[in-house]
Amino acid sequence: MKKIIKTRFAPSPTGVLHIGSVRTALFNFLYAKKHGGEFILRIEDTDRERSKPEFETVIQESLSWLSMEWNSFHRQSDRTEIYQEAIRELLENKKAYISKEEREGGRKEVIRFSNPNKIIKFKDTIRGEINFDTSELGDFVIAKSESEPLYHLTVVVDDFKMEITDVIRAEEHISNTPRQILILEALNYPRPNYAHIPLILAPDRSKLSKRHGAVSVMEYKEKGYLPEAMLNYLALLGWNPGTDREIFRINELIEAFSLENVQKGGSIFDEEKLRWINKNHLEKFVPKEEQYENFKERFLKSPICEKHQWCFSDLYLHSIWMVFKERISVYEDIDILLENREFDYFFDKPEYEATKLLWKDQKKKDASKHLEKLIEKINQMDELSYEHDTIKDAIWDYATEKGRGEVLWPMRYALSGRDRSPDPFVLSSVLGKEETLGRLKNASEALQN
Ligand code: GLU
Repeated sequence: MKKIIKTRFAPSPTGVLHIGSVRTALFNFLYAKKHGGEFILRIEDTDRERSKPEFETVIQESLSWLSMEWNSFHRQSDRTEIYQEAIRELLENKKAYISKEEREGGRKEVIRFSNPNKIIKFKDTIRGEINFDTSELGDFVIAKSESEPLYHLTVVVDDFKMEITDVIRAEEHISNTPRQILILEALNYPRPNYAHIPLILAPDRSKLSKRHGAVSVMEYKEKGYLPEAMLNYLALLGWNPGTDREIFRINELIEAFSLENVQKGGSIFDEEKLRWINKNHLEKFVPKEEQYENFKERFLKSPICEKHQWCFSDLYLHSIWMVFKERISVYEDIDILLENREFDYFFDKPEYEATKLLWKDQKKKDASKHLEKLIEKINQMDELSYEHDTIKDAIWDYATEKGRGEVLWPMRYALSGRDRSPDPFVLSSVLGKEETLGRLKNASEALQN
């Protein structure tokens, strides 16, 4: 009978879940799902002082947010008896012994492994064959007492009892593998396959840490990243599909994933790339209405809405959303744009110095003449069909004849009061005919003074 593929994600609950760990979880998840296997979540809390239940909760919440459902769940602190049995077996077979040692605070007993001091060879799916002379490890400690097992022992026992076929974990565990193989050989367990995945590095190639920005996955949730975009990005950190394709949904990742295409070298975390992938997912996979609702919720909390009834007009907000949309990759960008008061001109008449209305060395009277002409043309337009394309049609030929900068710059500045803003047709269509006319008149008057 063919063995069922089983992988495990085995975090220690000693802190929030980092994106590096999530990537490890993801590779385990993808590999298991690809082979119709099982993905196991195992909380490794043998370090009793540093392990905290609240971190276990964060781990579960993070994986759930990312829809990485586990097939079974285990917690090492619930499994002491299982380890105890293995320790007794090792002691009985003289593969381990109790050692009385001088330690700070007096004499203490620990359980040490009887190292056969041999060369351990193993094949790592990603890194190839690895040889390690274990004699330099000495008789290492595997438990503080029969009821206090340590990491190397618990991992080996659990991987065996849980029938883990593939150990996929971070590169930093390579040097632990020979020790773990020695223990499993002493217990007559079969070896799982090993795959050690490369580190995630910061742009300066140092180890990714807090000082480089957000490293906890829940921070990305709060910023409004889409979980599937997050998975898409993390999958591409160290793995490639063997093609140029970059946008994947979760099922497509499962389909395309293979450990053979995981690279050996470290991969650099690039938030810009993550943003780009998020933008792609937003545009391609998130229903328009859902995007709008998300925008609206954030928008209604902004200070501009404390004084403007227009905020409560879905029609008006919807047209503003169309403008915002162009500028955001992640929902958090909405808050940033609002904080920077980027689009206040949709609510408040802009204030500016009249000379700002002038295109390059344009004369005031020329700019004012163009504005008057625009007022005349817009006045003739039907309010009911006042939209981007009709406004453009009404103005374009005149602007082309007189010079687009000469005509459209004063118009755009009159509407937004900003050096940078969307084009004047977009602005005017959102503001509407009446408000556009008012602002153009104000500008023309300002130029005449
Ligand atoms: N508990 C270990 C850690 O958090 C992982 C052990 C393993 O994957 O074998 O790094």
